[in-house]
Amino acid sequence: MALTESAPAVPPAAHAPEGERTTTGTGAHEGILRRQSLRESAARTYARSLPIVPVRARGLTIEGADGRRYLDCLSGAGSLALGHNHPVVLEAVRKVLDSGAPLHVLDLATPVKDAFTTELFATLPAGLADDARIQFCGPAGTDAVEAALKLVRTATGRGGLLSFTGAYHGMTAGALDASGGATDVRVTRLPYPQDYRCPFGVGGDQGAELAARWTENLLDDPKSGVPTPAGMILEPVQGEGGVIPAPDTWMRRMREITASRSIPLIADEVQTGVGRTGAFWAVEHSGIVPDVMVLSKAIGGSLPLAVIVYRSELDAWKPGAHAGTFRGNQLAMAAGAATLAYVRENRLAERAAALGARMLGRLRNLAAEHPCVGDVRGRGLMIGVELVDPYAEETGSSAPPADPALAVAVQQECLGRGLIVELGGRHSGVVRLLPPLTLTDEQAAAVLDRFADALAAAERAHRPGRPPRPRSAHRRNATGPSH
Ligand code: PMP
Repeated sequence: MALTESAPAVPPAAHAPEGERTTTGTGAHEGILRRQSLRESAARTYARSLPIVPVRARGLTIEGADGRRYLDCLSGAGSLALGHNHPVVLEAVRKVLDSGAPLHVLDLATPVKDAFTTELFATLPAGLADDARIQFCGPAGTDAVEAALKLVRTATGRGGLLSFTGAYHGMTAGALDASGGATDVRVTRLPYPQDYRCPFGVGGDQGAELAARWTENLLDDPKSGVPTPAGMILEPVQGEGGVIPAPDTWMRRMREITASRSIPLIADEVQTGVGRTGAFWAVEHSGIVPDVMVLSKAIGGSLPLAVIVYRSELDAWKPGAHAGTFRGNQLAMAAGAATLAYVRENRLAERAAALGARMLGRLRNLAAEHPCVGDVRGRGLMIGVELVDPYAEETGSSAPPADPALAVAVQQECLGRGLIVELGGRHSGVVRLLPPLTLTDEQAAAVLDRFADALAAAERAHRPGRPPRPRSAHRRNATGPSH
């Protein structure tokens, strides 16, 4: 059966009727999963918590080999701005296939690439687009992060890097070093502002200002042990770090601090880009213009593509400084150009802002009934629900400890109800929703209904018999972007 956007609801925990079953069938589904667990690496990730064998997908909906259907709020880790197999994406891909154009072209010029670059530049913040260069990278976000770091190190002749606690920039060595868990001595980690677990215990504008002052002080104190770095890399909304939107005021402070000290500012928009946060690029919320933008995920319209765009002044690296075989994916460029144009023409960033705000509102109402929901936050259609143990012993922190086991239970209850969600956050206690920007109101309601049921079921099973009694000493929160 064709999956349509107007057929949102998978009956909770239901199997599709016989007539809708895929030819693959339940037996094949189980066999494929069994062989996967026998043959694939111990490092596999999503496959562990989501034992699904996708065989068809359209929009928000994925159909498994066992005939079950799911509402997909993981969206290829945020890559599917238009959901699965959007008609404009399919058409763009088919057009390239039917044209006889080569699919592999290294980094040679092609009409498809030319059109992609033109469309991408049309969306960039004006202050950058006017004078930008683009480097096509290996097809993963992490490779574009490596390119950005190499670019600023070459341009400045400096080695150090400023990054932030809780950051996630990828899995290759340089990107890992810039991420929150790393140990590279060349990387100085600075506090990322956050309300719920504010490192200064105050949150809000004051917490963000203290974080900015700490940054300023490290750079200006000759004995801080932090020489002027090659660059600063930040996510405008931390995604893997637990869906933490940076306040716009803090973003502007970071821009001022870096600009006045000639430190290139790198915005990692791998996850926040292409309308996801309610602006085409998340830096637009604060109005800042970074020196470098790292882009991947949604720019490829569901196919692998990664680039950096940067001020031409930084273009001091040598030919071949960041090479790679797979930097010319024509299908991804066509799918990406179609996606960028569709998001722009249909004002899907605005749609994400409005729908995301309504979803946050409903989740906050839900939080009021569930002491285990410590915080609900997000921006646009990048939404996080932090689960906590409200009964834990006092820790001195204003927020109760995260409850990663409950988060896993909620994720599994969601799956049982035909809803795919992601987990993240410093303590793995945040349930994340990254639905496509094409989400309809009805689909959003179906997602939230299933989430509410799953939360209630997981809470009951996780803490049977516990009275709904949050400790008053622990602050409950509901943080969105501050302006
Ligand atoms: N930067 C950010 C902000 C990300 O969220 C991710 C992936 N989640 C990456 C970089 C790395 O991208 P990739 O997984 O494609 O290497």
